[in-house]
Amino acid sequence: MVVVLLGAPGSGKGTQAKNLIQRLGIPQLSTGDMLRAAVNSVSDVGKQAAEYLQRGALVPDSLVLSLIEERLGGQDCKDGFILDGFPRNIAQADALEALLTRLGKKISHVLAIDVDEKELIQRLSGRRICKKCGTGFHVAYQPPQVAGKCDQCGGDLYQRSDDNENVISERLKVYRAQTAPLLDYYRHRNVLREMRGVGSPGDITDRIMQVLKA
Ligand code: AMP
Repeated sequence: MVVVLLGAPGSGKGTQAKNLIQRLGIPQLSTGDMLRAAVNSVSDVGKQAAEYLQRGALVPDSLVLSLIEERLGGQDCKDGFILDGFPRNIAQADALEALLTRLGKKISHVLAIDVDEKELIQRLSGRRICKKCGTGFHVAYQPPQVAGKCDQCGGDLYQRSDDNENVISERLKVYRAQTAPLLDYYRHRNVLREMRGVGSPGDITDRIMQVLKA
């Protein structure tokens, strides 16, 4: 099963992908996570990607595609995967289609998670993430039991450097201009399933599972 999670920054793609890993038994491939890891390890890709992440702009397609291509060939992806944050524009969607055809696979579902922009900004600006296990928190909506520490593993929480006002507004602009056209792209291919991304994360996962089973 190949599932694509589509939605603006802050719509809950990462949280839902993590919940779906357990329910579907297939891995999450987050290009944002891959790029942040590349930046942190100061690899060649990381050096080239860093300034784009800092600005909230899309990293050049060739860099992202090289990461995705390498990852899709992995043994753990043979029964399927959940794409989180990829594709981000039409050129990436075309490249994904070609790549999947080569691997003898096709997209099963594209789940578009819709959240109002005001709420996206509130979510992103208060978001905190565990350095160790990646669990997400929110300073107001979902605070950790001990300030600055992860409830799951005790790891330190941090704020992503692109979760600040100016970069958030740029990321939302990029989403509207470059990623939102993918809704029509996948609607025409009859694989798009749209849902509201408001409510508890568990309830939204239940809704997604119903769509996937239908
Ligand atoms: P995310 O974690 O998905 O919010 O992505 C964080 C940042 O990584 C984005 O603002 C982009 O700079 C970069 N990025 C992630 N995925 C992609 C992609 N598919 N194409 C281009 N840039 C990406």
